[in-house]
Amino acid sequence: MTTHSLRWIRNFVDGRFVDPDITRGFDNVDPATGRVDALVHEADRSLVDRAVRSARRALDGGWAQAPVRERTALLRRVADRIEERFEEFVAAEVADTGKPVVQARELDVARAVANFRTFADVAAAAGQESFLTDLTGGRQALNYAVRKPLGVVAVIVPWNLPLLLLTWKVAPALACGNAVVVKPSEETPSTAGLLAEVLAEVGLPPGAYNVVHGFGADSAGEFLTSHPGIDGVTFTGSSATGSRVMTTVAPRVRPVSFELGGKNAAIVFDDVDLDEALTGLTRSVFTNTGQVCLCTERVYVHRRIFQDVAAGLVDRARALRLGDPCDEHTTTGPLISQAHRDKVRGYFALAEQAGATVLTGGGVPDLGATLKGGSWIEPTLWTGLSGADRPVREEIFGPVAALMPFDTEEEAIALANDTEYGLASSVWTNDLRRGHRVAQRMKVGMSWVNAWFLRDLRSPFGGVGLSGIGREGGESSLHFYTQPTNVCVPL
Ligand code: NAD
Repeated sequence: MTTHSLRWIRNFVDGRFVDPDITRGFDNVDPATGRVDALVHEADRSLVDRAVRSARRALDGGWAQAPVRERTALLRRVADRIEERFEEFVAAEVADTGKPVVQARELDVARAVANFRTFADVAAAAGQESFLTDLTGGRQALNYAVRKPLGVVAVIVPWNLPLLLLTWKVAPALACGNAVVVKPSEETPSTAGLLAEVLAEVGLPPGAYNVVHGFGADSAGEFLTSHPGIDGVTFTGSSATGSRVMTTVAPRVRPVSFELGGKNAAIVFDDVDLDEALTGLTRSVFTNTGQVCLCTERVYVHRRIFQDVAAGLVDRARALRLGDPCDEHTTTGPLISQAHRDKVRGYFALAEQAGATVLTGGGVPDLGATLKGGSWIEPTLWTGLSGADRPVREEIFGPVAALMPFDTEEEAIALANDTEYGLASSVWTNDLRRGHRVAQRMKVGMSWVNAWFLRDLRSPFGGVGLSGIGREGGESSLHFYTQPTNVCVPL
């Protein structure tokens, strides 16, 4: 293919898009077709440095001290402007990820709007901690904490929900008066640039939002996290990369917020409303082609209803419609890349070696000539695996789950908690007390009963173990993106 006629996806530094260096382009591939749609300008170390310096200038130039009402008003204008340009964001997200257009509208872009509105509300309503301290002689001292922006925040995000996850961090960071340097995933660079346009349109000061494109190690990601000018890192991605980023920032002791991988369990009791549970489980296994950190990859089912749940899930998996992401009837897109498909197929092979029964899927679908070059994969369900097998222990991040039986509540809890990850879980039961009891014992950050991925953006979000460090959402975000200075005055 001749590449000179392709569109460039550019870096955004100090309020301007940077002219691309044509020697530093990499391909932006449409995962549905395998076609190269654009070239991305990979930022070098000096461009990342410029971005960090411009972020510092924006902070010092007044953004950090801007009244909260000005910042929150700006965030609301961002939300309005994304709504006005809604279909542009949808098209960019679909082209980068191959996800179904209906999902991009209802989940990804809708949540970006909600992120800006919610964090405007949260920041506007935030108070501050204060304590009256009893002193000898009947006097008191007033302690109160003034929250200041963290500073220049490095924001590193993955490819699965690019705009949703980016705005989940950028909205609270800006609400708190920080300046950000964003490194989107190399797979999905487009919507970060569209957001740059919107932020400039609504009047964000130059330098408060920068975008640097590239990869991780020895590229823009590492140049950013190793830069001495950053004051903190908020990272969403795999646990292995999180660990590397932590090592990079450790010498300079910067705060980190890590939203990492998962190996999430669902527990299905035999008193369940079968139809409702099957609908919920299907969403939890197959949404976004299984590429959501919260997706279920382990389904523990009470032995009495095991066959019914297995049969019901197989029917629903086969009813999913893979195909053109722009078709409104498509429910399921491709995986993000051929490399990721190779990884998922590697787990198909491991499951087979471990003696799994493939209830459905297990291969690559034939979707015709146009989609032949895409990274398509069949929705897949297994039985016959145990907790010792790698497909049950490791995050696969595809449209795949292992179904395993249990006999007692205690056994189900032990099986679900038998993992180094700890992001999310769901419990399916009609027994209210059991639902609460089991949900509370899950070793995770988010525990649902008869639901999945039902979010209130004011509630804490994050994981335990390999799934992360810290929480974001509502006040938790305000805490990460600010630093308190405690003032103490004897009265
Ligand atoms: P990844 O870790 O490969 O990459 C994430 C980001 O980090 C990308 O922008 C990448 O370029 C960058 N990066 C890679 N190496 C780096 C380095 N050494 N220094 C700095 N940056 C570096 O993850 P991915 O494959 O893009 O995303 C999938 C993973 O993200 C899954 O594990 C999934 O569970 C996780 N995830 C977690 C959450 C959550 O909220 N917990 C949400 C979505 C996805």
